[in-house]
Amino acid sequence: MKVYISADMEGVTGVAHWNEVDHNKPEYPYFQKQMSKEVASACEGAIIAGAKEIYVKDAHYSARNILPSYLPKKVKLIRGWSGHPYSMVQELNSRFDALVMIGYHSKAGSGGNPLAHTMSSAKIERISLNDRSASELLLHGTIASKYHVPLVFVSGDFGICKEVRRINPLTITHSTMHGVGDSTISLQPELSRLQIKKKVEKALSLDLKLCIWAHPNKFKLEIRYMKHIDAYKASQYPNTVMLNSKSVVYESKDYDDIMRFILFCV
Ligand SMILES: [Zn+2]
Repeated sequence: MKVYISADMEGVTGVAHWNEVDHNKPEYPYFQKQMSKEVASACEGAIIAGAKEIYVKDAHYSARNILPSYLPKKVKLIRGWSGHPYSMVQELNSRFDALVMIGYHSKAGSGGNPLAHTMSSAKIERISLNDRSASELLLHGTIASKYHVPLVFVSGDFGICKEVRRINPLTITHSTMHGVGDSTISLQPELSRLQIKKKVEKALSLDLKLCIWAHPNKFKLEIRYMKHIDAYKASQYPNTVMLNSKSVVYESKDYDDIMRFILFCV
């Protein structure tokens, strides 16, 4: 079994402020360790379930957060951003048996996490995909669906767990914390880590095929920017239509085109 783990940081147990996920700030190293432990626990659960090969993508900010020595020997770690449109799931393809997401978070404009955002907290007010308001989980989960790779497990804030259960109730989720306004109410970190290990093991022991999403045959991406100048610039991308001063829409039958638009226009 070959498993892909994509790891973000805003949904790691206990995170409540941007300083805690920013490598330039003194609060960061504690949460860097917690992120590394949660990813390592997911790997350990996967190995118990029979994973022979595991790819981990560090998918937060600099993409250089996870402490490599925390990870088991079977793991290949992808650090940094290649510039490939698959972004948080770089190198994912049909040879993987399952996708696992760790530290994921609520989407832009939702109240599930003080750090809720989609792709860019500085530029984007909201993104929708096929008229459904989009999180990073939806955008990258749709790449997995192109390759028939099931999304079997998600850990992160309560809001993102609720969202994935709406998409597929058979995906196993682990809610690390619950956002209330500018605060979070979270599990004890060691307990959270142990539960991630157990639940990943369970998720990979069930019928994986039941967690494959249907892949639509056409896509409509709508982005509302914070600033009208970003919308104007994005509207210069081929086949992009300006909806109003702050919003653009881009359509394609190939989902790779959608992720390529995001690469250049977000
Ligand atoms: Zn992040």
